[in-house]
Amino acid sequence: METPKYKLSAWSAFANAKCPRCRRGDLFITGMYEFKGQEMHKNCSHCGLVYEREPGYFYVAMFASYALNVAEMVTLAVAISVLTGSSNPWLYVTIILGVAVALAPFNYRYSRVMLLHWLTPGLHYHPEMSEDKAK
Ligand SMILES: [Zn+2]
Repeated sequence: METPKYKLSAWSAFANAKCPRCRRGDLFITGMYEFKGQEMHKNCSHCGLVYEREPGYFYVAMFASYALNVAEMVTLAVAISVLTGSSNPWLYVTIILGVAVALAPFNYRYSRVMLLHWLTPGLHYHPEMSEDKAK
């Protein structure tokens, strides 16, 4: 029997910012690099999961975002050091801040995806909820 196309793996559901419960509905209305910023759906369009689990829920995503930022900055600093061997602090500051600004939308998006997919106790994938709705 063939697996239906919509049954996404955990990784592709994560990468495509899908609902953590059914892996079908989109988390975001807008694309990652849209000028007006990113907007989220209130509910999953497929299973109805409310994404903002409680008031202020997405404040926790700031910690995930912070962790992403630190990881990116440390990686960059090591990369610059290895690739250029420079000890000029302005080189580091310029590149790291530039990349941090460029990656801000990515961090914003994936900190929320991480929060919903990995960091929320009791929120898991329910394969039966990803079925097509019988009408
Ligand atoms: Zn859903």
